[in-house]
Amino acid sequence: MKPKFVITRRLLKKIPYLIKTYVSPHILQDTAELLLVSNKKITGIFPVEIHVTEHCNLNCRACSHFSCLADEEYLDPAAFESDCQKLSRITNKLYAFKLLGGEPLLHPKITELNAIARKYFPTTPIQITTNGVLLTTLPEEFWINCRDNHIKIVISQYPIKLDKKKIKELGKKYQVQIQYVGSTNPDRMLKMPLDLSGGQNTALSFKNCVMSWGMCITLREGKIFTCAVAAHIKLFNKYFNQNLALTDADFASLDKIKDKKELLEYLSRPIPFCRYCRTRETKFGELWGVSKKEITEWV
Ligand code: SF4
Ligand code: SF4
Repeated sequence: MKPKFVITRRLLKKIPYLIKTYVSPHILQDTAELLLVSNKKITGIFPVEIHVTEHCNLNCRACSHFSCLADEEYLDPAAFESDCQKLSRITNKLYAFKLLGGEPLLHPKITELNAIARKYFPTTPIQITTNGVLLTTLPEEFWINCRDNHIKIVISQYPIKLDKKKIKELGKKYQVQIQYVGSTNPDRMLKMPLDLSGGQNTALSFKNCVMSWGMCITLREGKIFTCAVAAHIKLFNKYFNQNLALTDADFASLDKIKDKKELLEYLSRPIPFCRYCRTRETKFGELWGVSKKEITEWV
């Protein structure tokens, strides 16, 4: 069946919440991006993100990437290069390639990763998505590397203090683009509760899921995941000794996917893992705070 470009009622209804939670001052650009990506089967437009560190220095409550539960772990540059190479065979032009985590600026070899990403995606907008805490502490080498590889710094905002003046000066000095996204309001968090029994209807979960639109398509260990939740669930499983199980149908293996069309087809369908998501109970406007690492933050 020919795909139709859709602006669904559920998408329109959620836009005010999404703006509050994720969106930058560039509101029109962000809304357009949401429409293009949620219709990716037609537009062919989608971003891809990757954890370059598992852990984080902010440890927010109910982190949807489970980074506050993660051990200190860094992506190996050789593994990153292998994944970039495989993905670039499917498409070497993404809407955006996002290096994140966890907190990506904790990675001691972030400049090496920047150069690898640029090598395989020469014309893709590449960004480091950071909470910004470490930005003013980084050496000159970092900024020069970002400038030379055309890496944008995207600061995901939280209700914390950042030296925005100094960050602006650094961006200007080294000609690195800085962009802020999300709100600094305390009620800027989202919670999508998990169903530990896996008893949800996958089609319904997917239909009601803000992550199914394609804003957090994730590359991990040679696989493409529809969303960050399925991609990083092993961090949750490990910390809480759970078994929210992934099957071979929960990701697209880059060794098996034929082309971009097949990948887009895959990304537009529910995955078995959707049975663990109580998406109809997604709560917006949750208060930000530091995680106590209690399972109730996610269920
Ligand atoms: S800053 Fe982002 S990645 Fe880090 S714990 Fe908070 S929500 Fe998670
Ligand atoms: S597994 Fe499915 S329902 Fe759950 S967050 Fe991912 S896309 Fe949404």
